Amino acid sequence: MLDLAVIGARAVTPSGSRLADIGIKDGRIAKVAASGALEEAAHTIDARGMLLLPGATDPHTHLDAEMFGSRTADDFESGTIAAAAGGITAIIDYAFQSEGGSLAEAVARWDDKARGRAVIDYGFHVALLDPSATAVAEIGRMVERGVTSLKIFMMRGFEERMREFLRAFAAAAEAGALLTIHAEDQHLIGYCTERLLSAGRAGVAHFAASRPPLSEAAAIARALTMTEATGAAAYFVHLSSAAAIRGIRRARSEGRRVLAETRPIYLYLTEDRFLEADGERYVGYPPLRSRGDIEALWEALADGTIDVVATDHCSWSLARKKAADRFTRIPPGMSNLETLVPMLYSEGVAKGRITLERMVDLVASNPARIFGLYPRKGAIIEGADADLVVFDPDAKVVIRAGEMHSRADYDPFEGFEVTGWPRVTLSRGEIIVADRKCLARAGRGKFLVRAPFSESRS
Ligand SMILES: [Zn+2]
Repeated sequence: MLDLAVIGARAVTPSGSRLADIGIKDGRIAKVAASGALEEAAHTIDARGMLLLPGATDPHTHLDAEMFGSRTADDFESGTIAAAAGGITAIIDYAFQSEGGSLAEAVARWDDKARGRAVIDYGFHVALLDPSATAVAEIGRMVERGVTSLKIFMMRGFEERMREFLRAFAAAAEAGALLTIHAEDQHLIGYCTERLLSAGRAGVAHFAASRPPLSEAAAIARALTMTEATGAAAYFVHLSSAAAIRGIRRARSEGRRVLAETRPIYLYLTEDRFLEADGERYVGYPPLRSRGDIEALWEALADGTIDVVATDHCSWSLARKKAADRFTRIPPGMSNLETLVPMLYSEGVAKGRITLERMVDLVASNPARIFGLYPRKGAIIEGADADLVVFDPDAKVVIRAGEMHSRADYDPFEGFEVTGWPRVTLSRGEIIVADRKCLARAGRGKFLVRAPFSESRS
């Protein structure tokens, strides 16, 4: 007998969307059947009128991280509860190497943060901040442990240590580690920032001007030269501008294999937000852009130029965001995990800008493929983990920070009216969220050993 059946929903499967009944046994999808064709189950979820989506994988989170002398509002418990409530069933968080520290130490530290707290499954990337010879020599061992991607920040000390980074890129290529690259040019940002500050323009209203789209385009071109020279695979995180999209398209037209991610805030908000009284709440790197950039990103979502929408969830209280005396000291990032999927459905699918299948690719199937988790995650297919979302396409929700599960006390999308919201979230066959209430036990999430990066799979 099956443990659980989800019946009557329109399921998004790799072979298309159709009415299907899903049978679950021992935490996995045991059967994908035509309506009414499933054997008996101990429990049944009647999902008629609903959509059934594979749980999303968010490959870009910062939980329990320290930056600018403060700790993020969300740890692995509140952060993964927010994720689960929003239909995300796996995350990949960034484990930061400490100065002079080993990569193994970074992963051990992050493992301590997640273990006993996470309610969904999680993996790690390592943020390579100090590309010493010993750290570079560890890359292969990280891949063997299932940590199969590195983060490269191009804006802090990157130019000064270029040769060491080149060695790291080559080691990553050799080991099958994907480079996730934060592409902003440190010199251009430094120049723009100096000019603004010396003119007394230190307020958040000037933040966007300190990190122009050109800085993103310049860094992409530079990174692509380095990855071409070393054979490394590049995945550009949180692209924000039309200039960045042009850079990705140009590389692909030259036959380069390049992967691209964007982030929700760049799809819904413009730089005018920095002129508001609490403009600090929207500060992230790179900054919000213009209406034209938003249009370019939506076109790139629809035509496949962008592969993944990920949150870059990095949450702070409003008081912490506003405590800085100049824009360079505002801790970057904001809460996004709970709204990723419903906002993309509402603004993208319901408004006819992208198809439902494309949305599932962007938040579930593509991230699972690219980061070595497919088809265990990211697909409604027999044998996969039963990570599923019963999604009500007609639910109307007004986003209110007070009703969200993040410990941040504000939401960047406060007041947005959303059509479509997750009703039930299943993780390995267990109901972990129902009607916006978390039912999961802290610590039930498991560490995900990810496969090495493969060009063909992604
Ligand atoms: Zn980030």
